[in-house]
Amino acid sequence: MRIVDLTMTLKTGAPVFPGDPLPIVRTWTTIREHGYYSNLLVFGEHTGTHVDAPAHFIEDAPTVDEVPIERFMGRGVVIDASSLDGKALINKEFIEAELKKLGVNVGPGWVVLFYTGHDEKAGKPEWFEHPGLDESGARYLAERNVNAVGIDAPSIDHEPFPGHRILLSRGILIYENLTNLRELLGRPGFQFIGLAAEDSERLSESGARHSDT
Ligand SMILES: [Zn+2]
Repeated sequence: MRIVDLTMTLKTGAPVFPGDPLPIVRTWTTIREHGYYSNLLVFGEHTGTHVDAPAHFIEDAPTVDEVPIERFMGRGVVIDASSLDGKALINKEFIEAELKKLGVNVGPGWVVLFYTGHDEKAGKPEWFEHPGLDESGARYLAERNVNAVGIDAPSIDHEPFPGHRILLSRGILIYENLTNLRELLGRPGFQFIGLAAEDSERLSESGARHSDT
């Protein structure tokens, strides 16, 4: 079995969404000095490759720890959106036509990923000039009740974020800043596993949400 790693490298100064803190990765201990090696990591939860849980856009919706673990995996299909220019809208017609070409009917258990090639532009201004779901595209995927949707760009959509609102309100996860999707083009039905979730659980004022009593 061949395994394709879909994650970007998390390192100091790695590019982030405007307004997000720049990540820091610092050596904390070394084997020579302390007997063991470890790092200090400081970064926002939407840094690099990550998953958006429903709570990201929907008040009181599940945080990442509350989403059933089955949602973070499924049968994958990559839709080639690399022919779309700039901030082009990924609409229902486009998705339908591309899935037809691939001979795939998506539904529960599927993970639909969009290849744009924008991961190669990370850190440049054009990074943010990527295609994104419009309302019709998001509704199409929501109605099919897929497990998750993903893209190799910093966001699945642009303001006012119809993709985030529609998908997350239906409990459909969103993977952003994926990479290496090109390697999965034309190979629908692969096994997708996206468990490296960074989106943290919601904390109450007094501390952890799941504390006793
Ligand atoms: Zn995000």
